[in-house]
Amino acid sequence: MSDIKKDLSRIIESIPNNVLLVAVSKTKPLSLLKEAYDAGQRHFGENKAQEILEKCPNLPEDIKWHFIGHLQSKKVKQVIRYTHLIHSVDSLKLIAEIDKRAQAMGKTQDILIQVHIAKEESKFGIPVEKLSSFIASTMDDFSNTRITGLMGMATFTDNEDVVSKEFATLKKAANLIKTSYFNSDSSFSEISMGMSGDYKLAIAEGTTMIRVGSSIFGSRN
Ligand SMILES: *Cc1c(COP(=O)(O)O)cnc(C)c1O
Repeated sequence: MSDIKKDLSRIIESIPNNVLLVAVSKTKPLSLLKEAYDAGQRHFGENKAQEILEKCPNLPEDIKWHFIGHLQSKKVKQVIRYTHLIHSVDSLKLIAEIDKRAQAMGKTQDILIQVHIAKEESKFGIPVEKLSSFIASTMDDFSNTRITGLMGMATFTDNEDVVSKEFATLKKAANLIKTSYFNSDSSFSEISMGMSGDYKLAIAEGTTMIRVGSSIFGSRN
Protein backbone atom coordinates (compact mmCIF):
# COMPACT_ATOMS: atom_id res chain seq x y z
CA MET A 1 0.00 0.00 0.00
CA SER A 2 1.22 3.53 -0.74
CA ASP A 3 1.81 5.87 2.17
CA ILE A 4 -1.10 8.05 1.13
CA LYS A 5 -3.46 5.09 1.04
CA LYS A 6 -2.21 3.96 4.46
CA ASP A 7 -2.55 7.39 6.00
CA LEU A 8 -6.00 7.86 4.54
CA SER A 9 -7.29 4.57 5.86
CA ARG A 10 -5.71 5.20 9.25
CA ILE A 11 -7.52 8.54 9.51
CA ILE A 12 -10.82 7.25 8.15
CA GLU A 13 -10.79 4.36 10.62
CA SER A 14 -10.23 6.78 13.49
CA ILE A 15 -13.10 9.16 12.72
CA PRO A 16 -16.85 8.62 13.11
CA ASN A 17 -18.87 7.83 9.97
CA ASN A 18 -20.71 11.13 10.12
CA VAL A 19 -17.52 13.21 9.97
CA LEU A 20 -16.41 14.12 6.45
CA LEU A 21 -12.71 14.04 5.66
CA VAL A 22 -11.61 16.84 3.33
CA ALA A 23 -8.12 16.02 2.05
CA VAL A 24 -6.25 19.32 1.86
CA SER A 25 -4.08 19.01 -1.23
CA LYS A 26 -2.76 22.58 -1.52
CA THR A 27 0.78 22.81 -2.95
CA LYS A 28 0.74 19.07 -3.75
CA PRO A 29 1.17 17.72 -7.28
CA LEU A 30 -1.57 16.00 -9.29
CA SER A 31 0.14 12.63 -8.90
CA LEU A 32 -0.46 12.66 -5.14
CA LEU A 33 -4.07 13.76 -5.55
CA LYS A 34 -4.58 10.91 -8.01
CA GLU A 35 -3.17 8.48 -5.46
CA ALA A 36 -5.64 9.69 -2.88
CA TYR A 37 -8.43 9.52 -5.45
CA ASP A 38 -7.52 5.94 -6.32
CA ALA A 39 -7.66 5.12 -2.61
CA GLY A 40 -11.27 6.31 -2.62
CA GLN A 41 -10.93 9.92 -1.48
CA ARG A 42 -13.42 12.25 -3.21
CA HIS A 43 -13.42 15.48 -1.16
CA PHE A 44 -10.35 17.69 -1.68
CA GLY A 45 -9.54 21.12 -0.23
CA GLU A 46 -7.55 23.89 -1.90
CA ASN A 47 -6.84 27.42 -0.74
CA LYS A 48 -5.82 29.24 -3.91
CA ALA A 49 -7.97 30.04 -6.91
CA GLN A 50 -5.09 29.54 -9.34
CA GLU A 51 -4.35 26.09 -7.98
CA ILE A 52 -7.96 24.93 -8.27
CA LEU A 53 -8.05 26.20 -11.84
CA GLU A 54 -4.93 24.23 -12.70
CA LYS A 55 -5.90 21.03 -10.93
CA CYS A 56 -9.62 20.57 -11.56
CA PRO A 57 -9.56 20.12 -15.32
CA ASN A 58 -6.91 17.41 -14.95
CA LEU A 59 -8.66 15.23 -12.40
CA PRO A 60 -11.86 13.14 -12.40
CA GLU A 61 -15.12 15.07 -12.46
CA ASP A 62 -16.65 13.34 -9.46
CA ILE A 63 -14.19 15.06 -7.09
CA LYS A 64 -15.87 17.51 -4.73
CA TRP A 65 -13.68 20.60 -4.36
CA HIS A 66 -13.70 22.58 -1.14
CA PHE A 67 -12.32 26.11 -1.20
CA ILE A 68 -10.78 26.66 2.23
CA GLY A 69 -8.60 29.77 1.85
CA HIS A 70 -9.22 33.46 1.62
CA LEU A 71 -11.20 34.05 -1.57
CA GLN A 72 -10.93 37.39 -3.32
CA SER A 73 -14.17 38.62 -4.88
CA LYS A 74 -12.49 39.05 -8.24
CA LYS A 75 -11.58 35.34 -8.31
CA VAL A 76 -15.10 34.06 -7.61
CA LYS A 77 -16.14 34.08 -11.25
CA GLN A 78 -13.28 31.74 -12.19
CA VAL A 79 -13.59 29.17 -9.43
CA ILE A 80 -17.32 28.92 -8.80
CA ARG A 81 -17.91 26.35 -11.50
CA TYR A 82 -15.64 23.99 -9.53
CA THR A 83 -16.52 24.63 -5.91
CA HIS A 84 -18.69 22.16 -4.04
CA LEU A 85 -18.39 24.15 -0.79
CA ILE A 86 -16.64 27.43 0.05
CA HIS A 87 -15.56 27.26 3.71
CA SER A 88 -14.06 30.70 4.14
CA VAL A 89 -16.73 33.32 3.59
CA ASP A 90 -16.49 36.30 5.92
CA SER A 91 -17.91 39.36 4.16
CA LEU A 92 -21.19 40.48 2.64
CA LYS A 93 -19.31 41.71 -0.39
CA LEU A 94 -18.03 38.19 -1.01
CA ILE A 95 -21.46 36.62 -0.52
CA ALA A 96 -22.95 39.13 -2.95
CA GLU A 97 -20.35 38.26 -5.57
CA ILE A 98 -20.78 34.50 -5.02
CA ASP A 99 -24.54 34.91 -5.31
CA LYS A 100 -24.28 36.90 -8.52
CA ARG A 101 -21.94 34.41 -10.16
CA ALA A 102 -23.91 31.40 -8.93
CA GLN A 103 -27.08 32.90 -10.33
CA ALA A 104 -25.42 33.49 -13.69
CA MET A 105 -24.53 29.79 -13.81
CA GLY A 106 -27.89 28.57 -12.57
CA LYS A 107 -26.22 27.08 -9.51
CA THR A 108 -26.89 27.30 -5.79
CA GLN A 109 -23.54 27.64 -4.04
CA ASP A 110 -23.17 26.20 -0.55
CA ILE A 111 -20.95 28.25 1.75
CA LEU A 112 -19.75 28.23 5.35
CA ILE A 113 -19.20 31.39 7.32
CA GLN A 114 -15.67 31.60 8.71
CA VAL A 115 -15.61 32.58 12.35
CA HIS A 116 -12.56 33.93 14.14
CA ILE A 117 -12.15 31.71 17.22
CA ALA A 118 -8.35 31.76 17.67
CA LYS A 119 -6.34 34.01 19.94
CA GLU A 120 -4.04 35.04 17.12
CA GLU A 121 -4.81 38.27 15.35
CA SER A 122 -6.30 37.62 11.95
CA LYS A 123 -7.90 39.65 9.23
CA PHE A 124 -10.08 36.67 8.43
CA GLY A 125 -13.24 35.42 10.04
CA ILE A 126 -16.21 37.08 11.72
CA PRO A 127 -15.68 37.65 15.47
CA VAL A 128 -17.98 35.40 17.49
CA GLU A 129 -19.73 38.37 19.08
CA LYS A 130 -20.61 39.81 15.67
CA LEU A 131 -21.72 36.53 14.13
CA SER A 132 -25.41 36.81 14.88
CA SER A 133 -25.81 40.25 13.33
CA PHE A 134 -23.70 39.19 10.37
CA ILE A 135 -25.93 36.17 9.71
CA ALA A 136 -29.00 38.37 10.12
CA SER A 137 -27.70 40.70 7.43
CA THR A 138 -27.36 37.80 4.96
CA MET A 139 -30.95 36.63 5.34
CA ASP A 140 -32.54 38.75 2.64
CA ASP A 141 -31.67 38.59 -0.97
CA PHE A 142 -29.09 35.92 -1.68
CA SER A 143 -31.25 33.44 -3.54
CA ASN A 144 -28.42 31.42 -5.05
CA THR A 145 -26.26 31.08 -1.95
CA ARG A 146 -26.98 28.71 0.89
CA ILE A 147 -25.24 29.01 4.24
CA THR A 148 -24.81 25.43 5.42
CA GLY A 149 -22.71 26.02 8.52
CA LEU A 150 -19.64 27.55 10.14
CA MET A 151 -15.89 27.11 9.78
CA GLY A 152 -13.13 27.95 12.23
CA MET A 153 -9.43 27.52 12.92
CA ALA A 154 -8.14 27.12 16.46
CA THR A 155 -5.07 28.81 17.90
CA PHE A 156 -1.79 27.20 16.81
CA THR A 157 -0.69 25.85 20.20
CA ASP A 158 0.13 22.60 22.00
CA ASN A 159 -2.28 23.58 24.74
CA GLU A 160 -5.19 21.23 24.10
CA ASP A 161 -7.46 23.00 26.58
CA VAL A 162 -7.21 26.21 24.60
CA VAL A 163 -7.94 24.43 21.32
CA SER A 164 -10.85 22.41 22.73
CA LYS A 165 -12.41 25.52 24.24
CA GLU A 166 -12.22 27.34 20.91
CA PHE A 167 -13.85 24.42 19.11
CA ALA A 168 -16.55 24.31 21.78
CA THR A 169 -17.13 28.03 21.23
CA LEU A 170 -17.68 27.43 17.51
CA LYS A 171 -20.04 24.52 18.15
CA LYS A 172 -22.05 26.61 20.60
CA ALA A 173 -22.21 29.50 18.15
CA ALA A 174 -23.47 27.12 15.45
CA ASN A 175 -26.22 25.82 17.73
CA LEU A 176 -27.29 29.35 18.56
CA ILE A 177 -27.32 30.45 14.92
CA LYS A 178 -29.27 27.36 13.96
CA THR A 179 -32.01 27.97 16.50
CA SER A 180 -32.13 31.70 15.77
CA TYR A 181 -32.10 31.66 11.97
CA PHE A 182 -32.33 28.18 10.47
CA ASN A 183 -34.66 26.23 12.67
CA SER A 184 -37.06 25.26 9.93
CA ASP A 185 -34.23 24.60 7.49
CA SER A 186 -32.10 21.57 8.22
CA SER A 187 -29.51 22.52 5.60
CA PHE A 188 -27.60 24.51 8.23
CA SER A 189 -25.80 21.55 9.76
CA GLU A 190 -22.07 21.68 9.12
CA ILE A 191 -19.16 22.63 11.33
CA SER A 192 -15.79 22.62 9.60
CA MET A 193 -13.12 22.47 12.28
CA GLY A 194 -10.06 20.32 12.86
CA MET A 195 -6.78 19.98 10.93
CA SER A 196 -3.89 17.47 11.09
CA GLY A 197 -2.77 18.60 14.52
CA ASP A 198 -6.14 18.96 16.20
CA TYR A 199 -8.86 16.99 14.40
CA LYS A 200 -9.26 14.53 17.29
CA LEU A 201 -10.10 17.43 19.60
CA ALA A 202 -12.50 18.79 16.98
CA ILE A 203 -14.28 15.44 16.76
CA ALA A 204 -14.67 15.40 20.54
CA GLU A 205 -16.31 18.84 20.29
CA GLY A 206 -18.75 17.83 17.56
CA THR A 207 -17.21 18.75 14.21
CA THR A 208 -18.85 17.44 11.04
CA MET A 209 -15.95 18.10 8.64
CA ILE A 210 -12.22 17.93 9.18
CA ARG A 211 -9.68 19.50 6.83
CA VAL A 212 -6.55 17.39 6.90
CA GLY A 213 -3.48 18.06 4.75
CA SER A 214 -0.05 17.16 6.06
CA SER A 215 -1.15 13.95 7.81
CA ILE A 216 -2.19 12.61 4.41
CA PHE A 217 0.16 14.21 1.89
CA GLY A 218 3.20 14.95 4.06
CA SER A 219 4.43 18.29 5.28
CA ARG A 220 4.51 21.32 2.99
CA ASN A 221 7.56 23.48 2.30
C1 LIG B 1 -3.66 24.15 5.11
C2 LIG B 1 -5.00 24.17 5.76
C3 LIG B 1 -5.50 23.03 6.42
C4 LIG B 1 -4.73 21.73 6.57
O1 LIG B 1 -3.65 21.87 7.42
P1 LIG B 1 -2.78 20.60 7.93
O2 LIG B 1 -2.19 21.07 9.19
O3 LIG B 1 -1.78 20.33 6.85
O4 LIG B 1 -3.71 19.46 8.11
C5 LIG B 1 -6.76 23.12 6.97
N1 LIG B 1 -7.50 24.24 6.89
C6 LIG B 1 -7.04 25.35 6.27
C7 LIG B 1 -7.91 26.56 6.22
C8 LIG B 1 -5.78 25.35 5.69
O5 LIG B 1 -5.35 26.46 5.08
